[in-house]
Amino acid sequence: MRRLLSRPGILWGAAADLGRTALLALVLCAAGPVAAWASCFPVSDPGYVALRPQVDDNPAHVLSVVAARLHALDRAGAAHDPRRLAALYAVQANAYAILELDHQARGAAQKGLALVNGPTDPLRLDLLSTAALDIYTQAGIRGAIRTIAAARAQQPEDSLSGVCLEIALGALERRANESALATRTLTQAYHDTETPARAAAHADAAIELSSALRGVGDFQEALPLVRQKIAWDAAHGDAEALSVSTYLEAEDLQAMRQFAAAIAAFGQARSISVSLGDHEGVAFSDMRICQLLTELGHYGAARPLCDSAAQVFAASRSTDVLKQTQVYLAKLDLRAGDPRQALRILDRVLDRQGTDMAPGVVGIAYRTRARAFGDLHDYGRAYSDLQEYLRRYRATVLARRLSLQATVKERALAQLEIARNAVLQRQLDLTRKRETRQTERLRWVAAAGTAGVLVIALLSYILITNLRHRRQLLRLATEDNLTGLPNRGRTMELAKAALEAAAAQHRPLTVAVIDLDHFKTINDRLGHAAGDHVLREFARVSRGSLRLGDTLGRWGGEEFLLILPDTTLDAALASVERLRVLALAIQVPCADREMQVRVTFSAGLATTADGARSLDEIIARADAALYEAKNEGRDLVRIDRESYRTASTGVRRALTLR
Ligand code: GH3
Ligand code: MG
Ligand code: MG
Repeated sequence: MRRLLSRPGILWGAAADLGRTALLALVLCAAGPVAAWASCFPVSDPGYVALRPQVDDNPAHVLSVVAARLHALDRAGAAHDPRRLAALYAVQANAYAILELDHQARGAAQKGLALVNGPTDPLRLDLLSTAALDIYTQAGIRGAIRTIAAARAQQPEDSLSGVCLEIALGALERRANESALATRTLTQAYHDTETPARAAAHADAAIELSSALRGVGDFQEALPLVRQKIAWDAAHGDAEALSVSTYLEAEDLQAMRQFAAAIAAFGQARSISVSLGDHEGVAFSDMRICQLLTELGHYGAARPLCDSAAQVFAASRSTDVLKQTQVYLAKLDLRAGDPRQALRILDRVLDRQGTDMAPGVVGIAYRTRARAFGDLHDYGRAYSDLQEYLRRYRATVLARRLSLQATVKERALAQLEIARNAVLQRQLDLTRKRETRQTERLRWVAAAGTAGVLVIALLSYILITNLRHRRQLLRLATEDNLTGLPNRGRTMELAKAALEAAAAQHRPLTVAVIDLDHFKTINDRLGHAAGDHVLREFARVSRGSLRLGDTLGRWGGEEFLLILPDTTLDAALASVERLRVLALAIQVPCADREMQVRVTFSAGLATTADGARSLDEIIARADAALYEAKNEGRDLVRIDRESYRTASTGVRRALTLR
């Protein structure tokens, strides 16, 4: 992450255009943790793994080692491994960058990039970031933003490399003075690293975001973020990074006019720099403490600090910070009542009309010089400088206010988006869970359905088979197998039902008991099969002649019961007469003509027309009439005595005739 931290913009926020030499003096010594950035793009090449950690401590040495290895590979010819070569270029690029040899750094990175492909290759991403972050011209930064944005878009969703590129993108956007955009990108990155596994990247996102916010003057928001980084640096014993983050905290406190706390924080940053032997780091803190002491009126204590800082900056040719320190010294001269000395210094400071300084400092320089002119009663020039100061002040304030507004808006938008994404994610999770449950349920339903269908099929089969079986049983139980007529039991049931219906409807019911004559003889003479044939034929022809509703049942042997509902004796006699004719027509298969038989029967009739009766009684009466018919010579129909009394003249005549 030092690659990001060691950028001027990060340290100087609003003073992003401050010269880079002086800034690097501080930052170089305050090297950030490399570990976080390395974990972003885990390059596995052994050469890289061995050399990369040494880059920050001894870049020159690393460069010489890399040069020797490149030379050796070159001599080996085309047989070398391009990835090995690219990894060496990556190390070289990083070392050049530390030494501020930006052009060389970019060149090495480009050479490496020409050798590696693959949008998610860690080596390529390392090279890409190095190339992008070593660009300092505004036009170049815009190109770098496009490159990094494209690389980030190619990373897997929510990957660490993607988040690291997001941080790099935010840093570049800030350097391109796109504070609002940078804030949005970095707020997102800060959110995206909020897991313990990404704590290092989270600390980096925090310090980057704090710098973006500081850049637009939102110190209130920047302070807790920088303190987060301080905690991280302290916990990881990273003294160099800690000196930078503590320095930034002090700046925020100063901007928030918490002078005592700011002096204490600069004091802390200073002592860390002292322990690190970082002279320029010490000078930066001295300059700030000097400025603060001047504000508080401790001129005596302030001067030696500014003097010493100025010496260090002069030695390192850090023009911008040297001039800044000189402005503070001029202020002290004014306080000490030496406007001429102040004027001498300020004329030198403003020799290039502030083009080599941060805008805020230029304003202060003009204002201080206006005071010096005033003290010297040169009110014309004092007025002109004051005008210059006001012009710059207004521009600075206006620009800052505008970018602050835009930043606050972007930040709110980013937070909204994060919240919305969280809601969407939750909804997505819920939908996924629901889908899984539904699929599971469907699977069960399908299984149960299949089983159900099988069970239903089985049950249907059993049911149908049962039904058939039942019907068969029922038929067996109610049907006579020889003739197909209702058997005795069933005939009895049907007769009972017919009698009940007749009684209910007050309609007459007549029954006839029919017995084939000399049937035994048929059996005896023609065989039992012929007897069976006669029985079947009698049943068949009788069935065909009966009305719907009439029933002929096999009463036993060669005896039948005819039930005729809603039938008077007259009509019953006619029916029986029809049967008699049909019976006579029955052919019995027989070769011998002599043996031809006539099928006749005797019948006894009884009716309910003469009054309600029980079934047994009626049948008994019909039986009695049958007995009479047999006795009287067979092939006769007789009516029981009681029924005869109610019989019509037609019936009596018919019976007499027979
Ligand atoms: P009657 O005129 O007095 O009624 O004389 P019959 O021979 O018809 O009467 P009987 O009661 O003496 O004989 C009935 C015979 O019918 C005896 C029996 O073998 C025969 N029979 C009964 N059931 C069947 C049957 O299902 N098939 C055959 N082939 N014969 C049967
Ligand atoms: Mg009989
Ligand atoms: Mg008989």
